[in-house]
Formats: sequence, C-alpha cells, structure tokens
Amino acid sequence: MNFKPYIRVIEDFPQPGISFKDITTLLQNGPVYREVINELARQLKEVEIDCIAGPEARGFVIGAPLAIALGVGFIPIRKSGKLPGHTIEADYALEYGKDKLAMHQDAIQPGQKVLIADDLLATGGTIATSINLIEQLGGQVVGAAFLIELLELNGREKLGPIDIISLVTY
Ligand code: 5GP
Repeated sequence: MNFKPYIRVIEDFPQPGISFKDITTLLQNGPVYREVINELARQLKEVEIDCIAGPEARGFVIGAPLAIALGVGFIPIRKSGKLPGHTIEADYALEYGKDKLAMHQDAIQPGQKVLIADDLLATGGTIATSINLIEQLGGQVVGAAFLIELLELNGREKLGPIDIISLVTY
C-alpha cells in the first residue's frame, strides 16, 4: 500500500526551512494506520526480537501497536525528568533543537534483542542516542523500524550495521 497520500506535509514547521511530515492525517484513518502496523510486522516476521523500544512521543504511536502485533513488550524512551524510577540519560541533537533522552535502568535485561521504532528517521540523532542508551543497559539493538525516512539527511549512516526498514521515503 502507498502510505504517502495519507501524510500531510506542512512547510516551515516548527521553524522556517523545515518541511514537516505530519502523520496525524494518517493516524486519523483506522484501516490505514492498522495497515502501517501490519506491514511493519510482516517485514519483521523473520527478525528475532525480545522487545521494542520507542522514543516519545511519536515512537509510542508506532512502537506500542507494533509490539502488540509481534507479541513482545514495549519500552518507552522518554525526555529527561518523566520516568519515575532510576534512569540513565544521554544528550542528543535533533534536526532542529537539542534534548535529553532517558530510560529506566531496569527496562532491558542484558542480552535482550531490541528493535527500535519511531515515526520518522531524519538525521538519525534520536535513534543513535536510543541505541547508546539500550547498549549501556546491555541490550542488543537488532534493528530499527520507521514509517518515514528522509533520505537526504543520511540518518542510516549514523546507525551502523543494524537492519533498518521504512515504509515511505522523501
Ligand atoms: P532525527 O533525530 O532522526 O534527526 O529526527 C527524528 C525525530 O524527530 C523523530 O523522533 C521524529 O518524531 C522527529 N521529527 C523530525 N522531523 C520530523 C517530521 O518532519 N515529521 C515528524 N512527524 N517527525 C519529525
């Protein structure tokens, strides 16, 4: 299925020069949203995964239903200060702006095979930081799954030799 017609592009958001891919128009459409999750699950069928981790907030929108579809647990990667237990944190740079991501120290057991899910791969900074956190906890990142990939920002190159899948490219 071609998902691109369901994604709205808004120019100059959140800053001049950024061409924002708005997935809310796709999420409004139940059958299309379900097909996104089903398609990612189909492509990941052969990959051995113990759990899925997704960065807030749009990583939850893809990662949590994908975890249910694959029958594995979901681990939230959150902005600093949101998780109630003991955390580890790492700084990261966005396509626009800067922030800090955190995970619970006991979120992953050493050796677990982790898939990262997010709505969109841009520079790869968010996912590189997520990989850093997961590896600090002893997890093994086996792949990353996205609805959208922005090819000209070369995010893949930042992520090393993990399997990366995306359903829509710009
Ligand atoms: P990166 O860290 O790869 O540069 O940026 C990806 C992160 O920023 C993702 O978590 C994604 O949610 C958010 N992001 C950056 N640009 C866009 C965009 O155009 N549309 C959407 N939906 N998210 C974006």
